[in-house]
Amino acid sequence: MPFQRRSWAEPFKIKVVEPLTMTTREEREKHITEAGYNTFLLKSKDVYIDLLTDSGTNAMSDNQWAGMMMGDEAYAGSVNYYHLEEKVQEFYGYKFLVPTHQGRGAEHIISKILIKPGDYVPGNMYFTTTRLHQELNGGKFVDIIIDEAHDSQNLHPFKGNVDLQKLENLITKVGGKKIAYVTIGATVNMAGGQPISMENLRQVRALTSKHGIKVVLDATRAMENAYFIKRREKGYENKSIKEILLEICSYSDAATMSGKKDLLVNIGGFLALNDNDVFEEARNMVVVYEGLHTYGGLAGRDMEAMARGIVEACQVDHLQARIGQIEYVGNRLIELGIPIVRPIGGHAIFLDAKQFYPHLEQLKFPAQTLAAELYLDSGIRSMERGIVSAGRNKETGDHYYPKLELVRLTFPRRVYTQAHCDVTVESVYEVFQNRNNVRGLKMVYEPKYLRFFQARFDKL
Ligand SMILES: *Cc1c(COP(=O)(O)O)cnc(C)c1O
Repeated sequence: MPFQRRSWAEPFKIKVVEPLTMTTREEREKHITEAGYNTFLLKSKDVYIDLLTDSGTNAMSDNQWAGMMMGDEAYAGSVNYYHLEEKVQEFYGYKFLVPTHQGRGAEHIISKILIKPGDYVPGNMYFTTTRLHQELNGGKFVDIIIDEAHDSQNLHPFKGNVDLQKLENLITKVGGKKIAYVTIGATVNMAGGQPISMENLRQVRALTSKHGIKVVLDATRAMENAYFIKRREKGYENKSIKEILLEICSYSDAATMSGKKDLLVNIGGFLALNDNDVFEEARNMVVVYEGLHTYGGLAGRDMEAMARGIVEACQVDHLQARIGQIEYVGNRLIELGIPIVRPIGGHAIFLDAKQFYPHLEQLKFPAQTLAAELYLDSGIRSMERGIVSAGRNKETGDHYYPKLELVRLTFPRRVYTQAHCDVTVESVYEVFQNRNNVRGLKMVYEPKYLRFFQARFDKL
């Protein structure tokens, strides 16, 4: 393919560095015990390589930092708001912009506007904050992703696809009027950063239009999705990421966005829409929950960094290095026989904890255990994406038992080097060698909402 270079080498060089802390095994024993075996409760100063999340952990460019100095901190009508609006319109194609402090701010507003109690909100797998906002507004989430997405070894190139039959069955069962909207994630975080194809997006649009159902895109990693479409889908090889992104967005009515992922910033998000009435309502509501409609909880400088981030993040060189780095780590782990979700996703490597620890039943929290073991071995911080993240069923009170029990090694954009990648692979391998000595965990404290952030555990 014409855009591919021989290597995924970074299209930048390093100008500023941030020292890392190394700890001893003894110190790490103490830290992880104090953190209740929850990597979210570790202090970052005690972490060596931080693969907890790619959210807000990106390195900004000199151009973005220069933009920070151009912050117009006027309460109303900031120059940076208009710059951001222009870039959102140019790259994502929506008419209207409502900035929010981060992605969940946008999810909150759109859920409140579009969901009536008792409505259904189908989606291609859930995302934690997205589903919670839907539920808090009386909606019922229904998973309509293809079955392949729940199988960590299935090599389907677009495991983020919607199963159109599942969607159609739901429409037949409850009627189009009871469906608030369809949420489309691109790429699908909880499935392992797996993309959705353009063909599938087009089909979802056709089916929902027939029934007058809206589509809301979770555009958080839509640029990474666009890169996969360019690489994997026929007819898109020679299109630019920008053209592909515009087409992705054209099949939806609105988008919620966490700028902390694709857009190479540390904070920020937005809601983008086409419908004038919904926009009017969102613009009223943002004043109550986030800030005036021209800043939405962000400083002017944050909006400027995000506007510049849109342009940088949409470059194919950037995405090739970004996703190339993940593929480098993934391929090395596969060579070592370590079970990971395949195909390798866009923002993270997902270790398959069920296969890693086949002797641990799901209620012994194998993924939570693996994340703790990895920290103990090397100070690398990862996160659980399994039964703890899945939470409880509101009606029955029982845990959800997700098929996928994963540990996510998430790579911040433009932050770590290939040598850091190698250290990570070596540490996972070490933990794999010692897998039979591990007994699992029990939960000793459970918060009511998004329990994975603050739950505490003890060793069994
Ligand atoms: C991070 C994320 C969100 C929520 O965004 P925040 O900026 O963390 O509030 C929503 N959807 C997906 C897919 C995400 O990864």
